[in-house]
Amino acid sequence: MGDVHARDLSVAVAGAGLGGLCLAQGLRRSGFEVDVYERDDGPDARPQGYRLHLDARAGLALEQCLPPGLLALFQATCGLPSRRFTVLSPRLRVLHEVVDASGQDPYAPGTLSTSVHRRTLREVLGTGLADRIHHGRAVTGYAVDGQGVQVRFADGDTARADLLVGADGVHSAVRRQLLPHAVVDDTGGRALYGRTPLTERTRALLPPALLHGFTAVVGGRTGVAAGLVRLREQPPHAAARLAPEARLSPVPDYLMWAVSAQAREFGVSEAALDRADPTTLHTLACRAVRNWHPQLRELVAAADVADTFVAVIRSAEELPAWRPSRVTLLGDAIHAMSPARGSGANTALQDAALLCRVLTERRDDSPAALVAAVGAYEERMRDYGFAAVAASRKAEAETGTGRLASWLLRRLG
Ligand SMILES: Cc1cc2nc3c(=O)[nH]c(=O)nc-3n(C[C@H](O)[C@H](O)[C@H](O)COP(=O)(O)OP(=O)(O)OC[C@H]3O[C@@H](n4cnc5c(N)ncnc54)[C@H](O)[C@@H]3O)c2cc1C
Repeated sequence: MGDVHARDLSVAVAGAGLGGLCLAQGLRRSGFEVDVYERDDGPDARPQGYRLHLDARAGLALEQCLPPGLLALFQATCGLPSRRFTVLSPRLRVLHEVVDASGQDPYAPGTLSTSVHRRTLREVLGTGLADRIHHGRAVTGYAVDGQGVQVRFADGDTARADLLVGADGVHSAVRRQLLPHAVVDDTGGRALYGRTPLTERTRALLPPALLHGFTAVVGGRTGVAAGLVRLREQPPHAAARLAPEARLSPVPDYLMWAVSAQAREFGVSEAALDRADPTTLHTLACRAVRNWHPQLRELVAAADVADTFVAVIRSAEELPAWRPSRVTLLGDAIHAMSPARGSGANTALQDAALLCRVLTERRDDSPAALVAAVGAYEERMRDYGFAAVAASRKAEAETGTGRLASWLLRRLG
């Protein structure tokens, strides 16, 4: 992108999540002015999850948007290769195994297939943007006028830009105003997520399958997905070597697990589950696997209890085309989806790269060219974004009826 002529443009981004940060990196690389307004008081204000699986959609987006040093830092801090996917019974019998024999480089952008630690990815994406990210600034709405967009904040303050991008996640305030008819469904699915640190004792409990790759345990209406997170290089070490300006936190090895089911299978109401504190959620996760193999029970029991959280599985309904304007959306703000196919972060990053590209390539600095570029972005984004939602919805429906193994196999096979 560096050789493309940089046109004048100021962009306000609502939300410093994965999509918003990637967009800010790409816009800055193209020479645009960008300000990111984030509701949270800081990057660690609330738990955001642990392990993400990223594929070539993310790889190509990061290659486009990040400066080379940060791309190298991202690649150095991915998870160790995982070449096998195993489906186990609750008694640890191997039901199915898929071995990746593609020989492709899992860390090259075009063939990326790797796990990452979410916080490390956010730290990499935030590097160099400290003066562009404004924490504690919740966007509540906007007004478009002849000169651009006025962004409104919860504290009554305002800011101006040529373009506003709502990258403010599943409950997007920008979407509520731009597309008030948009519907995001609660699928009834819930996933209890936990993190078990790897110690001598917990390592000894790992079934062999987990040492080789991602593992699903299929137990009727409840499933457990689990994967180790062992990074290729400790983030502070990699930062010192590749991008000394980056401030990355250490990530001790851990096992990520997620106990998934329809809310009712956990024996409490949806409302009670969504309000539950980490100790209660951990107790429910332990209860859900109480009849499973002792090693699995002990691995869940040995989690850092305070790190347990519940993910509400939501899914956006497809929308017909709308008129493009100086306000647009990306990521979960427009096409929220179940994590079932591991696509939400991948498409959010893909959106960021595509939007950045069309803005860079627009024919001139006129408002008409800006709106035409937004329209071109939205047309393509709706296409692949809602296709990804449909695929994840299908996978989610299948997990709900106890056919967890089949969707996992299709996902990873
Ligand atoms: C447990 C779990 C596991 C997942 N695993 C995977 C996976 O393996 N692979 C994958 O591709 N996807 C996965 N996903 C989905 C992925 O996390 C999301 O799709 C992705 O984070 C979306 O990025 P985003 O930038 O659109 O939104 P987010 O990352 O949600 O960021 C939105 C940001 O906007 C901020 N914000 C909200 N409201 C406002 C406001 N009014 N004003 C200002 N800021 C605001 C929020 O604080 C947040 O920082 C998973 C999701 C969960 C919950």
